[in-house]
Amino acid sequence: MRRLIQHFRRRSEQRAVARRAIPDALWQLTLARYPFLGQLGAEDRAELRRLSSLFLDSKEFSGAHGLEVSDDMAVAIAAQACLPILRLGLAAYDGFVGIVVHPDEVQVRREFVDDDGVVHEYDDVLVGEAMEGGPVMLSWRDVSEAGETAAWGYNVVVHEFAHVLDMADGVADGIPPLPGSAERDQWHAVLMREYDAFCARVDDGLDTALDPYGAESPEEFFAVASEAFFVASHEMRNEHPDLYQLLATYYRQDTAPNEQ
Ligand SMILES: [Zn+2]
Repeated sequence: MRRLIQHFRRRSEQRAVARRAIPDALWQLTLARYPFLGQLGAEDRAELRRLSSLFLDSKEFSGAHGLEVSDDMAVAIAAQACLPILRLGLAAYDGFVGIVVHPDEVQVRREFVDDDGVVHEYDDVLVGEAMEGGPVMLSWRDVSEAGETAAWGYNVVVHEFAHVLDMADGVADGIPPLPGSAERDQWHAVLMREYDAFCARVDDGLDTALDPYGAESPEEFFAVASEAFFVASHEMRNEHPDLYQLLATYYRQDTAPNEQ
């Protein structure tokens, strides 16, 4: 029975990949625009392309403020979104369907209630946002600049999809679903130790390999660390070897292998 189910699943995946096949020229262009994708080994590139087709087939893109989401925009987003789940599989993203693409960053009005019950309003600028159950919001300008901004360990797509993975167990706490409580305890210990040290460095005004925004909270730290893990991995590994190892085990990828 299980073999039969696997057989049908494989057949339906093959049909989905065929339905949403990414043309060669567009795929090569995507790898060239985003060098952190182009540097993957041949097998990983082929798997990324297959996952990207499945992603395009199962997710719904929409443009905000009159933006038309073209094929090359959708492929750029799909390929970067599938990088973190290269070994985890697309099921890790089953919790949402919609992706809303804005032309540029988005101004939003926020409010919070302080300890005295007073409501404060303030403006916030978003380049992306992930909510439990979706949709994922992205600023196209920031997505499209990811090839250049990788040098600073910055990648909005990886950031938001790291939040999606984090929230897959129902809580945004910087801890994605893990096999058991021993793994959770270990994750919590390493994450918090690295987070506290990182916050101290940011407070001291020191340069960091990770976006200082990570000092906001443990869940932002996980998202920011994931960005650098995928697009500026050597810098990230040098500054945070323990955190690098934690993410390499979780993502099942060694993005900064030791040079031979
Ligand atoms: Zn975030």
